[in-house]
Amino acid sequence: MKYSIHNEEKVKEILKENKLPPFRYAQIENAIYKNFITDFDEIGTIPKVMREVLKENFFYESLSVDTIKTSANGQTTKILFKTKKDEFIEAVIMRHQTWRITLCVSCQVGCPMACSFCATWKLGLLRNLDPDEIIEQVYFAAKLLNSEWTQLRNVVYMGMWEPFINYDSVKESILFITNQKKLNLANRRITVSTCWIVPWIRRFTEDFPQTSLAISLHAPNDEIRWSIMPVDHTYPLVDLMKSLDDYVAATNKRIFYEYIMINGVNDHIKLADELGKLLEWKLAHVNFIPYNPWEGTGWIDYSATPRFVIEKFQRILEKYWVVSTIRHTMWDDIDAACGQLANKKEEE
Ligand code: SAH
Repeated sequence: MKYSIHNEEKVKEILKENKLPPFRYAQIENAIYKNFITDFDEIGTIPKVMREVLKENFFYESLSVDTIKTSANGQTTKILFKTKKDEFIEAVIMRHQTWRITLCVSCQVGCPMACSFCATWKLGLLRNLDPDEIIEQVYFAAKLLNSEWTQLRNVVYMGMWEPFINYDSVKESILFITNQKKLNLANRRITVSTCWIVPWIRRFTEDFPQTSLAISLHAPNDEIRWSIMPVDHTYPLVDLMKSLDDYVAATNKRIFYEYIMINGVNDHIKLADELGKLLEWKLAHVNFIPYNPWEGTGWIDYSATPRFVIEKFQRILEKYWVVSTIRHTMWDDIDAACGQLANKKEEE
């Protein structure tokens, strides 16, 4: 059986079994994470016998790249990975005009949350990803960007999945990518996005007080939230908001509230005031996401809210001192919203 090279404990254990000095691990680490060498034969800083031990016992990747597509404007690269079990998962690199580069990763194959507007639920929940499978997505992007003479600095856990259902893998992957000797990403540049499984807040707050949190809110009241997000039945807004208040009290960090704008569903102008009242006095930033249409919503005929309405929402929020932005959609030509590419692939 072969293990992932990202499994530090296992690498050290096998070095020991083979009577190889433990200080060698630092050289391996340096070659892989600082120089992005992905062929054991090319790690020139370690002896040949050690390279053979690595080759025999470890692999670099369990994910293979099925498709890699860059949008016409060069800003977005979508990578469709295939797991060892022939499942598809997606990751997206977004190169913003400000030179900020963000990677969006997936943590589950599919998602059980069944939000009506999201393509991922169509896949169902197939399984949780292992920590290595999340780490590999980040490593792949970091290596690709390194070859473009740029650097990966931001990671958002916003791909296919609900992070708190696979919390242990998410935790392990964050600890790994922020490790100085590994990919050395800053905790505050990592954002975990959730539609919220309330009991996990305390654990997340304790484990990652520096990591950013985004909440898929999408409605200022339970009636509308229920109708588009079944999870709201289990954890209604009062519980959600209470747990978020506790989070802010403990971390003093601003929460990002995502609000998808769907024409005629959650964009009635009176909801802007409701949203303002809900978030007034809170450390909040609202990010409006124009609905990204995808084929196969079936019985639902959704379309995106016109921009002028979103701007009206923004002006109303200003009355409540709530800051907001409109998410720039940069990926229309490559099916980059949640689950879209993986769905197409499954259909094929
Ligand atoms: N389950 C997590 C993370 C995955 S979804 C969560 O709910 O936060 C990441 C974000 O993309 C969520 O805010 C989600 O609501 C949004 N999203 C999903 N499908 C979309 C679509 N078709 N158009 C626009 N945003 C979408």
